[in-house]
Amino acid sequence: MLNADWIKPEKDFGLACPIFLKHFKVNKKVKSASLKISAKGVYTATLNGQKIGNAYMTPGWTVYPKRIQFQEYDITDLLKEENSLLVTLARGWYGGRISGDNAKNRECAIIAEAVINFTDGTVQSIKSDSSWMCSYSNITFCDIYDGQIYDANITHNFNIKTVTADNNNLSVLVPQQGAPVIQNERFKPIKIIYTPAGETVLDFGQNLTGIVEISVNAQKGETVSLSFAEILDKNGNFYNANYRSAKCLYKYICREGLQTFAPELTFYGFRYIRIDEFPSTPVNSEMFTGVVLHTEMEQTGRISSSDALLNQLFNNIIWGQKGNYLDIPTDCPQRDERQGWLGDAQVFVRTASYNFNVQSFFRKWLTDMRLSQNQDGSIPSVVPAGFGRIGAAWGDAVTICPWQLYLTYADTDVLKEMFPAMKRWVDYITEHTTTEGLWTGHWQYGDWLELTAPFGAYKGDTREELVATAFYAHSCNIVCKCGKILGEDTSKYEDLYKKIVQTFKLTYKENFITQTECVLSLYFNLTDCPAKTAALLAEKIHAAGDCLQTGFVGTPYLLHALSNNGYADIAYDLLLRKDFPSWLYSVTKGATTIWEHWDGIMPDGNLWPDNMNSYNHYAYGAVGDWLYGVCAGINTVETHPGFERVHFAPIATDKIDSFYAEIDTINGTIKSGWKHENGKTIYEITTPVPATAVIEGKSYTLKKGSYVF
Ligand code: BGC
Repeated sequence: MLNADWIKPEKDFGLACPIFLKHFKVNKKVKSASLKISAKGVYTATLNGQKIGNAYMTPGWTVYPKRIQFQEYDITDLLKEENSLLVTLARGWYGGRISGDNAKNRECAIIAEAVINFTDGTVQSIKSDSSWMCSYSNITFCDIYDGQIYDANITHNFNIKTVTADNNNLSVLVPQQGAPVIQNERFKPIKIIYTPAGETVLDFGQNLTGIVEISVNAQKGETVSLSFAEILDKNGNFYNANYRSAKCLYKYICREGLQTFAPELTFYGFRYIRIDEFPSTPVNSEMFTGVVLHTEMEQTGRISSSDALLNQLFNNIIWGQKGNYLDIPTDCPQRDERQGWLGDAQVFVRTASYNFNVQSFFRKWLTDMRLSQNQDGSIPSVVPAGFGRIGAAWGDAVTICPWQLYLTYADTDVLKEMFPAMKRWVDYITEHTTTEGLWTGHWQYGDWLELTAPFGAYKGDTREELVATAFYAHSCNIVCKCGKILGEDTSKYEDLYKKIVQTFKLTYKENFITQTECVLSLYFNLTDCPAKTAALLAEKIHAAGDCLQTGFVGTPYLLHALSNNGYADIAYDLLLRKDFPSWLYSVTKGATTIWEHWDGIMPDGNLWPDNMNSYNHYAYGAVGDWLYGVCAGINTVETHPGFERVHFAPIATDKIDSFYAEIDTINGTIKSGWKHENGKTIYEITTPVPATAVIEGKSYTLKKGSYVF
């Protein structure tokens, strides 16, 4: 545990960041030393001028009233005889604009405890208490949405006392769960653009989440002032009206001489940076480095094909994940949102778990989801903030995400931890629906952003109650499966599942209005006549001009629903289509991440309305799981999770020449792919474990090894 006082400055700093100081001496030989530290807010700490640890945006975002993480760092090598421990505190997720009303009346504070073990067996401990002093730091303004102002000329004057924070509650403190946010790739601008509007704009070539580091020789008082954007408009001008109220500014007031600086305690989502003010030295791209921030996670999935656009789509899926896995799975990293929307996370979780090892990342967020569950079993649609209307496909993240961690990583502990919450979610629906066996009489998200919606609207023709009932069935089914694995009695849920399936079938009788309605019925086994429903889906796609019309909820399963039912050809047509609406459309428009809307930039160059238009929303990147699971045909086996067994079922197409995928799993690296050669299709498979395969209709049982078919 961490045993010290929560301390805050005795006066209010508003949006300026206080810096706390503790001087201490060490006059014996040190064997080891560690620092436990946390904040209500976000902190960064230095010891004798060196950053402690490599983590950013600490202590991370959790359900703060219930738990606040602390970090523990080894500081042995940073210690000297005379030591200055400095901690800078910003309001961050805890007390910043991002927490909305929750942030009101929240007082930011820090807590720290250093323990120094000497070689003679004695121990010295330094704890945050009212002996620590405080000063205005160089950061005169800091907010996650609005950015930062840093004045390099402010000298610290530690004459402000600290006091114990009002509620000196230590019981909320928990050790860091999962990996920290760290610095990752570094990007140089690929060009400097002088726009038609006369502005100077840096292009980093990649829509990314992070910060910018700048090196410049300046005179004291000269200012660097920057604005951030994801795209240029159709005239080639800087555009960031889609950030809505998030100002996303970075202003740095220089000291004299050569200096290198980057903001900390906030982050930006951007590809372009406009230089609003700059010292008299001419701007050159060597001065700037885009630094990517996201949770530390190892890339485990790789895809390569003969189709350059498809490869770029995969790259965009990877970058959508990097850009949005900053401590929690966010919807987007740039506008005044950046929230842990459950629906977005849920649709993408399978792809995410193949692309990267996200087990600990999700474990942390799921703990917060469980802690956010309301008394009545409902789950807020945004975690950890706790906002958002309750609704299907969003709340169902509570069953879908743990189940996927089980399938990908054989994580039964997460099932154990989440099982009560899963059941309570299903019970909530059962207790609140107005029709037994369906989920009716409740507000819903529907198939969010589906293309049957009128322009500018969010909901289309798919019946909300059909979506809600399909997910009710799906979650109930997951509860049954988890219960069996955990040895729990699930008879109540098995009966309920049968009831929901039966009522769904009786209610909708295969009369589906939209593509999404067909897709959900097929994918969740809610139709007695899959062949008829699949034919209807194919018809609807054709009637729409051979196009998809699905939104957040239908899209992840669309291609599966087709390929599972004999329409892989249409699935490939949709996957490889380049005109709007399609996955590759955004790629042809130069996208480097996945867009929130199929037509974020429209064919005529106009943009979706500013009020809801992100260019880094990973949801449609959920097609990644079809790339791994069907194009390459790598599938988990429920009875042998964690890829202890693999089922290969690649479906090749003659629309491209080759396709390969690899996934590093806890049981080794799985490879699968195919190419066309001399009029034949050659399939290549490497399995580190026993496997089954179905290739062009023939079944095989495979031992560990590499195969060519
Ligand atoms: C978010 C979405 C989210 C949705 C639900 C939006 O503002 O960006 O991705 O799931 O709201 O209402």
